[in-house]
Amino acid sequence: MSQTDDALLAKAEKLAKKFIITDGHVDFPYRLYAEKFKLDDAHANIPVSSEKGNFDYERAKKGGLDAPFMVAFIPASYQDDLGKAKVFADSLIDMVHWIIDRHPDKFARGDSPSMIERNTKKDLISFPLALENGAPVKTLEDVAYFYQRGIRYITLTHAKDNHICDSSYDTARTWNGLSPFGFEMVKEMNRVGMIIDVSHISDSAFYQVMQTSIAPVLATHSSCRKFTPGWERNMSDEMIVELAKHDGVIQINFGSSFLDGNINAIRDSNRAQVKRLLFQLHLTEDDPAAKKITNRFVEDHPEPYATVQTVADHIDHVKSLVGMDYVGIGSDLDGVGDSLPTGLKDVSMYPNLLAELLKRGYSEDDIEKICYKNVWRVWNKINQVAAQ
Ligand SMILES: [Zn+2]
Repeated sequence: MSQTDDALLAKAEKLAKKFIITDGHVDFPYRLYAEKFKLDDAHANIPVSSEKGNFDYERAKKGGLDAPFMVAFIPASYQDDLGKAKVFADSLIDMVHWIIDRHPDKFARGDSPSMIERNTKKDLISFPLALENGAPVKTLEDVAYFYQRGIRYITLTHAKDNHICDSSYDTARTWNGLSPFGFEMVKEMNRVGMIIDVSHISDSAFYQVMQTSIAPVLATHSSCRKFTPGWERNMSDEMIVELAKHDGVIQINFGSSFLDGNINAIRDSNRAQVKRLLFQLHLTEDDPAAKKITNRFVEDHPEPYATVQTVADHIDHVKSLVGMDYVGIGSDLDGVGDSLPTGLKDVSMYPNLLAELLKRGYSEDDIEKICYKNVWRVWNKINQVAAQ
């Protein structure tokens, strides 16, 4: 590393401490659930210090992370039973509240920008909550219910079409956009002050949200489709322009397959090969024998990773399309498995990204906007619209 790179990193580390880094999407709660986290003494320290995963308090402090949106992720399988989806969402929310209660000297609720600002002054990490997949929202009243529980954004759907709208990953196109309930839900979210997250939804659902919502929206963990041609999960240039026209923000996802179309294709083809292999051996994915074969395949076919520079390319691209006011960070840490870019493997590494932006000539004001100000503008505006 050259002298100037060292100096840039030192400056980036300072900025990471100075600015209230707000990350739009951290899948820590579901990761804990998958690791069979229990609300007891034996598990209580995992959120503070852990060898596993991408988030804990110690690494967050090192990286200057202040307000990760803690995501209650609801897999599509829960959509068959919306009541069950609600119980599961509540259990993940309870988990986050329990962690805050156990560590009041480290974590706090992050219900609003002003609350987060106060917490940050006290050196606490704030946990605004999010619901990824609207499956638990069975009735319009549930929007206010989840708001009262601390949820501040709802991703309308996830991997499959649900009762609210179509998913970018699903080919069924059940509603050709939003369902009748989905249109009503968008209005209710405006009324309550709940942020609408347009990540994961289909293009037509996105445009219908833009026509319906009277408040700006976030894409909490999406990247630019320009770099992954044809992949609907990311946002096209036209969509980014439309989002910005309505004062919304795209928060860039760090997953390598979100960042680089070639890596995306390699991962797709590897997944297909594993599937074929298991099929030939008459094994299902959950079979213990299948795990071994899958692991062996992954070892033999190491997948490439994107880099800090690739993430910066996406930020550059949004800037070139619409300017500095519509881009933020939505890492998807703890949600994209072993696909994180070199230099951005966990919550301790945000300074590497800030250093790259400095290197590219971004000003401190620009970086402050990317770290939190842009997203906070949207959040405050949504609160204003709700209060009217
Ligand atoms: Zn997601």
